[in-house]
Amino acid sequence: MTHAELHPCVIVHYHEISLKRGNRPLFLRRLQENIARAVSDLGPVTVVQRPGRIVLDLEGHEHAEAARERLDRVCGIANLALAVRTGSSTESLKRAVDHVIGVRPFSSFRISARRAFKTFPLTSVEINRELGAHVLKVRPQARVDLEHAELNVHVEVLPHEAFVYADRRPGAGGLPVGSGGTVMALLSGGIDSPVAAWRMMKRGCRVHFVHFHSVPYLPDTSIGKARELARRLTQWQYVSHLYLVPFGEIQREVVLAVRPMARVVAYRRLMVRIAEALARQTGALALVTGESLGQVASQTLHNLARIDEAATMPVLRPLIGMDKIEITEAAQRLDTFETSIEPDADCCTLFTPAHPATRLGREEIEAMEGRLDTGALVRAGVEGASLETFDFPRGAGAHAPSSARRARLAPPRP
Ligand code: ATP
Ligand code: MG
Repeated sequence: MTHAELHPCVIVHYHEISLKRGNRPLFLRRLQENIARAVSDLGPVTVVQRPGRIVLDLEGHEHAEAARERLDRVCGIANLALAVRTGSSTESLKRAVDHVIGVRPFSSFRISARRAFKTFPLTSVEINRELGAHVLKVRPQARVDLEHAELNVHVEVLPHEAFVYADRRPGAGGLPVGSGGTVMALLSGGIDSPVAAWRMMKRGCRVHFVHFHSVPYLPDTSIGKARELARRLTQWQYVSHLYLVPFGEIQREVVLAVRPMARVVAYRRLMVRIAEALARQTGALALVTGESLGQVASQTLHNLARIDEAATMPVLRPLIGMDKIEITEAAQRLDTFETSIEPDADCCTLFTPAHPATRLGREEIEAMEGRLDTGALVRAGVEGASLETFDFPRGAGAHAPSSARRARLAPPRP
């Protein structure tokens, strides 16, 4: 790169990763890979690490804005911006500032310079002054406003290059998907469970999905919703596996042994056992549900305790302390809300009363379950499960071109 050249790129900053010590290179490599994957269908790109940042080079790229948008859904990014990369001389900085300002209207501005190496001849304050004076020369009507500038021009000077940009956006935050192990999320067609799954992605987990349906006792609408939710969530983790478990026959057995008031909890305990068996086959270490304390009768502290007693893995409940309004807002931001509120028939309503027991005792549920062959029911669920795979971007990587592939159970190993 000669000093005066300007190259388009996206500059990415991370936050939580920089708090890591020994493992930072692993997290950064994962973030770098995920960024490359997220834009892989938009044309060839290079993603490189620089001290404290990652740069997506968009030289000659035809879809720069689309590429930047894709990065809004990459977990681990604190903030990002379309930027120009140039040489680290005052002259090239001025040219880059001219380019970034372009023809945009503004009445006030500021320069926010950061110098990542101390041998650059100017300090940050001096860069601010020098470039500020330059802007005032080309835009004599504009004034400097450090507090409420309409336009904030960021300048980052590294040893061999510099980055200049204006529109910095907050990123998704959290940690890169794939850096935190694998979990199995129980995905209903409702509002809560997709948000719960996403919260785990944001903590760096790869999330497999399992959905229980009661076809043919209930229509297959919940399956369609689970697929659509899995498809949307795949935009955050690039590959997803959705297990569809036929649950209707299992529920018929439960009905014979468990009185109506206790059935929802009995269903949930069986779901947990089946999900655990699938989790073990796939290397997932924990389950995830969308439960929030007290939201409905099956989610009282008593009933959550009964559900956990059936589990041998951790059951993670990222929404436990959130209320319905907070969860709904998160679902709207995540763009799963519209799918979640489509009408369907939830399998947990099959053969259950409108008001289930809220304080089910341990002995009580265990006595009723004792009349069931739980092992056989779990095996039936696992063996009846079918697996679908979703890719994002479609056809990227070493996967089939369709976005959903179906198979009988052939569990993936991480
Ligand atoms: P959601 O909006 O996620 O459906 P909800 O408020 O409707 O939650 P419940 O129906 O009691 O609450 O479900 C609690 C949790 O149990 C869900 O968040 C989900 O993780 C799991 N779950 C419930 N039904 C199913 C299902 N049919 N398949 C998979 N998981 C389910
Ligand atoms: Mg539900």
